[in-house]
Amino acid sequence: MYDVIIIGSGPAGISAALYLKRAKKNVLILSQGKSALEKAEKIENYYGIISISGKELYKIGIKQAERLQIPIEQDEVTNISYENHFIVTTVNREYEASYVILATGTNRIAPNIKGIREFEGKGVSYCAICDAFFYRGKDVAVIGNGNYALHEAKQLKPVVKSVTILTDGKEMVQNRDASDFAIDEEPIREFRGNSVIEEVEFVNNKKKKIDGVFVAIGTASSTDLARKIGAVVKNNTIVVNENMETTVKGLYACGDCTGGLLQVNKAVYEGAKAALSISGAKA
Ligand SMILES: Cc1cc2nc3c(=O)[nH]c(=O)nc-3n(C[C@H](O)[C@H](O)[C@H](O)COP(=O)(O)OP(=O)(O)OC[C@H]3O[C@@H](n4cnc5c(N)ncnc54)[C@H](O)[C@@H]3O)c2cc1C
Repeated sequence: MYDVIIIGSGPAGISAALYLKRAKKNVLILSQGKSALEKAEKIENYYGIISISGKELYKIGIKQAERLQIPIEQDEVTNISYENHFIVTTVNREYEASYVILATGTNRIAPNIKGIREFEGKGVSYCAICDAFFYRGKDVAVIGNGNYALHEAKQLKPVVKSVTILTDGKEMVQNRDASDFAIDEEPIREFRGNSVIEEVEFVNNKKKKIDGVFVAIGTASSTDLARKIGAVVKNNTIVVNENMETTVKGLYACGDCTGGLLQVNKAVYEGAKAALSISGAKA
């Protein structure tokens, strides 16, 4: 069991790891997908660095953690739960920890498909474990084509009548569990309904009746993971106190996922603060 699992290897996650390692904590970083930093062509507003590409700064952060022998596993986190300690589920296995730090960057943007925004809370959900119950015996769809979409489909399967994975024109990830589900790879035109979602229409004019849609595109974002364990999320950012602790004891969040200034300096500061709070030296 780890003292602390950090999800994310961007500025917030690496900063937290450096402080925790120096405080002699047994720490693991789990990371999968892109850091926002990798999209930044040039960073020219960070103290002491005149100009650097985001990609290069990201690589230096990883090297800095490796220099302190901090393990970094390339593994996608799909769930967090709690049973006396935290259980972090990835595509490949489960990890246990006394504390978890969410440092997975900003929330994923909802797909730009007509009807998604309009039906949020009226048939469109972002969390299977939170909302599956409301769709007992109903026909639902999951939008996505990766391991996270499969994870959400697996959570829904025992509760609902049917689950169809809608990849919206993309190819489904190669995973043997995918064969347990109906998969429709047609591009989607829109979701329709009156007061709640009733059907999906595809670009080829085909229609399918559905009672609910679960959005699970790409990897699970910080807010997706926070919601699953019951932490409060407001305006798509995770609510934290002055120590970067979420409303779930032992679960911390830092960086872009807590909102405010979406910059490297704020992510680094919050990572350090979360680490110091956990190691007992409150900032
Ligand atoms: C185009 C662009 C330009 C920018 N320019 C600047 C600038 O000039 N100056 C500046 O200060 N900031 C800039 N930023 C913002 C800066 O990149 C972010 O504020 C910073 O990267 C946030 O750090 P973070 O650690 O919170 O998140 P991120 O850097 O986004 O890191 C998130 C980490 O979480 C991991 N992750 C996500 N989901 C999962 C999952 N389910 N399982 C496992 N791991 C997961 C990812 O692999 C990644 O390692 C820019 C951003 C963009 C997009």
